Amino acid sequence: MGKEAKKVNLKVLVAALGVENIKIIDPLDQKATRSAIKEELAKDGPSVIIAQRPCALFKRANIKAKLALKVDQEKCEGCKMCLDLNCPPISWKKGITKEGSKRKGVSFIDGTICNGCGLCEQVCKFGAIS
Ligand code: SF4
Ligand code: SF4
Repeated sequence: MGKEAKKVNLKVLVAALGVENIKIIDPLDQKATRSAIKEELAKDGPSVIIAQRPCALFKRANIKAKLALKVDQEKCEGCKMCLDLNCPPISWKKGITKEGSKRKGVSFIDGTICNGCGLCEQVCKFGAIS
C-alpha cells in the first residue's frame, strides 16, 4: 500500500516455533533449491525452507528489467519441461515438427511479459532458451 512497515524476519519467526532445521534459498537457483529440498527431506523432524527473493512483479516495477528470454525453435525438442514452471509468458505452439525429432510442437516466450529471471533457461536440458 506504499506505507513503510517493519520487515518480518521469517527465520526468527520459524525458530520461535521450535523448528531447528531452517534453510534460506534463492528460488531462482534451481540447483541449490533442489539440493536444499533433498537435504531437508532426509532429516528427521520438521524443516522449513525459506525461498527469499523479491516478488517478480515488484522487480518489474522497480528495477530495470533484464532482457526477455526467447526459445530457439531449432533447438527446442518440445519436452515441455519449461511449461511445468507455469510461468505466464511461456506457452505452447503445437504442430511445429522437426526432421529427426519426435517433437509435436515448441515452446514460446512472450517477451513483453518475461522479466528475464532465467528460471526456464536452467530447466531446459537442450539449451533452447537464452
Ligand atoms: S524445456 Fe527447452 S526443449 Fe523443452 S519445450 Fe521448453 S524450450 Fe523446448
Ligand atoms: S525468464 Fe523467467 S519470467 Fe521469463 S519466461 Fe523464463 S521463467 Fe518466465
